[in-house]
Amino acid sequence: MAANFSMSVSAVIVAGGRGIRMGGNTRKQYLCLAGEPLLCHCLRAFDACKSLSRIFLVVPENDQDFCRDSVLSAFTLRKRIRIISGGKERQDSVRNGVLAAGEYGGIVAIHDGVRPFVLPEQIESTVAYAEKYGAAMLAIPASDTLKQADARGNAVNTLDRGKIWLAQTPQTFQYDLIRAAHESAQQTGYRGTDDASLAERTGKKIRIIPGSRFNIKITTPEDLMMAEALYPVFRKMFRPS
Ligand code: C5P
Repeated sequence: MAANFSMSVSAVIVAGGRGIRMGGNTRKQYLCLAGEPLLCHCLRAFDACKSLSRIFLVVPENDQDFCRDSVLSAFTLRKRIRIISGGKERQDSVRNGVLAAGEYGGIVAIHDGVRPFVLPEQIESTVAYAEKYGAAMLAIPASDTLKQADARGNAVNTLDRGKIWLAQTPQTFQYDLIRAAHESAQQTGYRGTDDASLAERTGKKIRIIPGSRFNIKITTPEDLMMAEALYPVFRKMFRPS
């Protein structure tokens, strides 16, 4: 889709999690992939986006100084970056980022700071679709057969995988839409694991853009091992130098 980008575009990169499923002492967003913190791979991709004006980086409460001095110091960004405090759950961290972006309005691209393989062109494409349709997200079609299990761990149903997409980020929205979706979730106590689910509840349609299987979320030590193995292939395919 041809990019127009007449609206002001902000990124909210959430890296406010405690990273407990990863184990160890270092939060997962600061762990290194190919010698550089996961978070920095994401920042690099967003920094390369022409449409984007600024980045709101959400980190755990009390981590701002550490992040600025020990993670970002070795790293030059062209875009303006503001580091802000996260909340208890992902949704709270995103909300803080969205509120901080409020003075600019326009478009907000929300990304997990632990998806290091996102590409600038994927980000731009969500921005272009969000500008046109209101909301857009990356997702990949399910390829495995999907089972529903009962409480005892028995498979009891098989879902139609033809209709299932696995959500990724960025998920990108016109500002008023995502702000209203977060306000509505706040008022009703709804907790979602992504931002599209909040927008869906307000009746909005989110355009799905086929993402890439590379765009994994690093959650466990195995994911990080897989990311290290994938990295040389990813470099060769998408960032040949
Ligand atoms: O926990 P999960 O893997 O779903 O986290 C996805 C993203 O949300 C991560 O980048 C994580 O740092 C972020 N997050 C956050 N604030 C929280 C919890 C998670 O910004 N309280």
